[in-house]
Amino acid sequence: MAKHPISHLLVEPGSDLSLAHRDTDETFGWEKDWALEELERVKQRLDVLQARLYAEEQRSVLLVLQAMDAAGKDGTIRSILSGLNPAGVHVASFKVPGGLEVQHDYLWRVHQQVPAKGHIGVFNRSHYEDVLVVRVKGFAPKPVWSKRYEHIREFEQLLADEGTRIVKCFLHVGRDEQRERLQERVDDPEKRWKFRMGDLEDRAMWPDFMEAYEDAIRKTSTKYAPWYVVPADHNWSRNLAVAMILLDVLEDMDPQLPPPEDGIDGVVVE
Ligand code: AMP
Ligand code: MG
Repeated sequence: MAKHPISHLLVEPGSDLSLAHRDTDETFGWEKDWALEELERVKQRLDVLQARLYAEEQRSVLLVLQAMDAAGKDGTIRSILSGLNPAGVHVASFKVPGGLEVQHDYLWRVHQQVPAKGHIGVFNRSHYEDVLVVRVKGFAPKPVWSKRYEHIREFEQLLADEGTRIVKCFLHVGRDEQRERLQERVDDPEKRWKFRMGDLEDRAMWPDFMEAYEDAIRKTSTKYAPWYVVPADHNWSRNLAVAMILLDVLEDMDPQLPPPEDGIDGVVVE
């Protein structure tokens, strides 16, 4: 992958990770105005590569977004995908499982949402919830969730082997910044729908969540499905960083337009 101002965000497979030592407010030396313009350039290039990926119809991309509340998963998705052709994008949001979902294993609902060949898929939360909130809040006992890291590595290996390129971003927001954003959700009538009392419960368990995230990221950052820890205190630099990570993946895949049918050369359309 190309060398970047953001390459240090990668969690090298097998390396240790301390989220406390990862910045939440880094802006990579970028000016905000420059970053907003650069994002438009990155999106134009994403648009070209998405069209080729769609035409090639052999492989897919899966971007997994995980974060504490209000870190900006929704905002990131809106910002980086808004320039793309909606026909080739699939966004899946994973909420508290219910109905048929709870009657199956935890990967059942996830596998169904994996992007089809030619598509870019984005997971707004994911199977990682099953080793994060489930672990922290004790929704399953340790003997159950502790086996899941291996399932997840194997599941992602399967997807990768079958043509899905996976990249995973943890949007790392600071605890103070989260307080401000949650308060804004309470105070702003346009944003209040996003706030749930349960958000406060999760916030109170912050250290436990950080520990669960560290463990999950360490155990599942692999060559075929790497994790990036993206500083998320500033929306504009967060958006550009994630867009660059996604662009790097697509550039590296280098999707190819299918060869034209024989005999098309020189055809004149009457
Ligand atoms: P949000 O993404 O903020 O709309 O909220 C979705 C909620 O669903 C979050 O509180 C997640 O922790 C929760 N959630 C997602 N997946 C699971 C899961 N597998 N088990 C329990 N809770 C989950
Ligand atoms: Mg929420």
